[in-house]
Amino acid sequence: MSKYDLIIIGGGGFGCSTAYYAARRGKKVLVLDQFGQGHDLGSSHGGTRIIRKAYFEHPDYVPLLQQGYKLWTKLEEISSRELLSPCGLMLSGQPESAVISGAREAAELHTLELEDMSTEEIEDRFPGYRIPDGQEVIYECDGGFLHVEDCVDTYITLAEKRGVEFRWNEPVTHWESDGETAKVWTEGTTYEADALVITAGAWASQSLADLPGFPQLSVLRKVMFWFPVMSDAYDYSMGSSCFFFEMPYGEFYGFPSLDGQSIKVCQHSGGEPVADPAQVDREFREEDMELVARFLGEVMPEVVPKPEDFAVCMYTMTPDSHFIVDRHPHYQNVVIGAGFSGHGFKFASVLGKALSDLAIDYETDLPVGFLGLERFKD
Ligand SMILES: Cc1cc2nc3c(=O)[nH]c(=O)nc-3n(C[C@H](O)[C@H](O)[C@H](O)COP(=O)(O)OP(=O)(O)OC[C@H]3O[C@@H](n4cnc5c(N)ncnc54)[C@H](O)[C@@H]3O)c2cc1C
Repeated sequence: MSKYDLIIIGGGGFGCSTAYYAARRGKKVLVLDQFGQGHDLGSSHGGTRIIRKAYFEHPDYVPLLQQGYKLWTKLEEISSRELLSPCGLMLSGQPESAVISGAREAAELHTLELEDMSTEEIEDRFPGYRIPDGQEVIYECDGGFLHVEDCVDTYITLAEKRGVEFRWNEPVTHWESDGETAKVWTEGTTYEADALVITAGAWASQSLADLPGFPQLSVLRKVMFWFPVMSDAYDYSMGSSCFFFEMPYGEFYGFPSLDGQSIKVCQHSGGEPVADPAQVDREFREEDMELVARFLGEVMPEVVPKPEDFAVCMYTMTPDSHFIVDRHPHYQNVVIGAGFSGHGFKFASVLGKALSDLAIDYETDLPVGFLGLERFKD
């Protein structure tokens, strides 16, 4: 039987970053994934992911993000690849909305730079947008986007250079631990390691089915859309930024147009519950884009509200929409990174490091305490 220091179930964004950071510490690592390398059947595909610091979801994420930004930059240096495009981020909502008040609170607590934008400034800098009455707009110059597939691919390439073994198309059927050694079974093969990390994305509940008290994770079907643009008002090359709008009928976000022809715009709120991630409906449905089209009509009139492309992805939600990064409560050598609730990718760098620390040292200096399982206890 092959013996490793660390086995990772799931070679998506978090599994690959964890593998890289563990390998940097000299560990012998195996990553197992049920699908092929670079697949688009989980949650780490679709070209781009927003990254930002003034974290409206909770200010406790900010110290992690500050580390996360440094690690993304370091990864760019090491790999000589552009992974993070710092184009800025425009946030818009009612003054009391979760997005605006939350971003302001995070910025104030952590002394982050946020710019209040007047109507004239918006018209001048972002002429493609019509800001709804009563909304405030704030701009975060540190905001931007990550090239999601390139980030994952970079982690894989650098991890392989350090000896990490990736076995693609090899689903894990079950695992066991006695607290010192973990065993993992795939069809026909058993692997053994000192520690196990479970980063199984939308399949996390299946890998943790036997854990009493593990919170219910709900998987949501999410659709990403690419729409044609009628002008250069949204062009990355013209200084256009990422955006996030809280509207009365939902939350919408998007990216600057990278090719000058089309723009990616999506709905963050909503999403159909998925009973089995393997069976998620990947077909286009007219109703998926109804609210996005309404948003475009009201806020981005120079976008043609008929998509030219789309892709289906999944959010894996915890009950409070905050992540789970912790050791298994019964086995000290099993670590869980799950429930990234539709906003996790920007943390793949720093939390990959935290997950590898937890697996190797059973502790980490990174401030992940607020993401522990303890909070779900009654
Ligand atoms: C539409 C969309 C937009 C998003 N936008 C943003 C954004 O702008 N900013 C941001 O920060 N985050 C965003 N996110 C969230 C972010 O992309 C995810 O949180 C992150 O990619 C999750 O990574 P993961 O490694 O947990 O999951 P995945 O990348 O899905 O990886 C899990 C892997 O585990 C494998 N696996 C599962 N079970 C087994 C098994 N039994 N055996 C073998 N392999 C197994 C799967 O095949 C999969 O490859 C978005 C997500 C979606 C869907």
